[in-house]
Amino acid sequence: VLIATVCSPISYLPLKFALSGTKPPEQTCESREQRSSYLKHRSPELPPYLLSKLQEYERRHRRCGPLSESFNTTSPLGTHNDFSDGGDCKFVVYTPSQGLGNRILGLTSTFLFALLTDRVLLVDFSADMDELFCEPFPNSTWLLPGNFPFRSDFYGGWFRDVYSYGKLLEKKSPSSSSPWNSTLLQIFLDDKYSEYDKLFFKDENQGFLEKIPWLVLISDGYFIPCLFQMQTFRSELEKLFPNNKSTVFHQLGNYLLAPSNQAWSLITKFYDAHLAKAEQRIGIQIRVFDPQATPTPVVMKQILSCTETRRILPRSRQSNETSKADEVTLRNEKSKSILVASLSRKYYEEIDWMYGTRRRQSTGIAVYQASHEGKQHSGDNSHNMKAWMDIYLLSTSDVLVTSSMSTFGYVAAGIAGVKPWIVMIPDPYHPRGANESACERAINLEPCFHFPPWFAYPDPPGTGGPVGRCEDVSWGLKLV
Ligand code: GDP
Repeated sequence: VLIATVCSPISYLPLKFALSGTKPPEQTCESREQRSSYLKHRSPELPPYLLSKLQEYERRHRRCGPLSESFNTTSPLGTHNDFSDGGDCKFVVYTPSQGLGNRILGLTSTFLFALLTDRVLLVDFSADMDELFCEPFPNSTWLLPGNFPFRSDFYGGWFRDVYSYGKLLEKKSPSSSSPWNSTLLQIFLDDKYSEYDKLFFKDENQGFLEKIPWLVLISDGYFIPCLFQMQTFRSELEKLFPNNKSTVFHQLGNYLLAPSNQAWSLITKFYDAHLAKAEQRIGIQIRVFDPQATPTPVVMKQILSCTETRRILPRSRQSNETSKADEVTLRNEKSKSILVASLSRKYYEEIDWMYGTRRRQSTGIAVYQASHEGKQHSGDNSHNMKAWMDIYLLSTSDVLVTSSMSTFGYVAAGIAGVKPWIVMIPDPYHPRGANESACERAINLEPCFHFPPWFAYPDPPGTGGPVGRCEDVSWGLKLV
């Protein structure tokens, strides 16, 4: 990377960041200005205390974050070539795991943890996520500088062995008086986390963690329900979300995650060309984890059973013949656009055959798909950009049909502010009985946390605390 010169567009940045390749924050964020005309169901109102806490957070981020004087001297990139005590600034670095939906949920949970513990959130987006979001915090950046120590080791076994809190607990039991005096710890909350890693969610361990200035947190899930189950955070959380715990992700996700100008251009071009004119937009998200175990006809049967019995869509055309009565019903419906989001093109083709193409003129139903990537890729920026585009296009829907267990669907519904119909996609481990309904309406907008520790379950179950069971994952927890 070239050294900054007077005429360089990044010359206003400290030299170190120019050298390390940290980009200056985007100046404008078009999606933040324009999204209210696309996300029709978003509630822009934030409770006053949450708003003041976010403003306080923004000031802290500016004071401590990577573009600040303070970061230059107290971060490990500064004069000490080591992790210093951070001055009066403490940090949590989010390191992503798994697909985009998982990452967004882990990131949002980490941000709430930062709010609750007066930390600054930095993100380790490698090249495959760099271009997806606008900078969320004014006059600063949340991107971890490229030359941050250990950055390439964050995901490695040795780093976890030496720095993870779980391993530390496994080896010996630290308490506030422990001789352990590192200034950096990894918090490992990936779905493969150990019983020791889970002890992060125990109140008695937060006092120790509070003193560590640098936490590197890896997570692929929405662990916010577990924060609500901790006495340490409960009263502050009640203040932050006083009336409605069921919009926590909706509020935080929309605050934090605005599509970058590049992503916004893709989203709005597709929306304006195909979805804008319909009187009703229906998003159908189809996620099949094991296509061999759950073939297309089985999935289609569940989807159609849901959309027909819940009167989301008219009775589908199963043959080339259409009855006169069907035609009349369809003609009287509002004009609809159906957006099919799926890795596969087959579902789009099936739904288009049933509702679209030849019927478009007479029935006002049009079926679209924005991408069909075939399979999940990793480390691919353009693939993640398409995933983000699909999530956001789904979020413009008036009615959402999502797939069980899918974080992709949770994020779309949460951003949208639309309670989804969750279709139960069967597989050999989760068979569906003939009498079970094909889908359930989510009780609220909250995502499910798929891997809570046993001690976070409400005891006794269903007694009115902040968390309850998920509609689609019997062992999962969600805010209720
Ligand atoms: P989950 O696995 O359903 O919980 O969702 P994730 O988003 O965490 O991981 C699935 C990944 O597969 C996504 O991030 C995308 O990379 C890809 N993917 C799955 N479904 C879709 C889809 O409908 N559209 C696009 N563009 N990508 C998808």
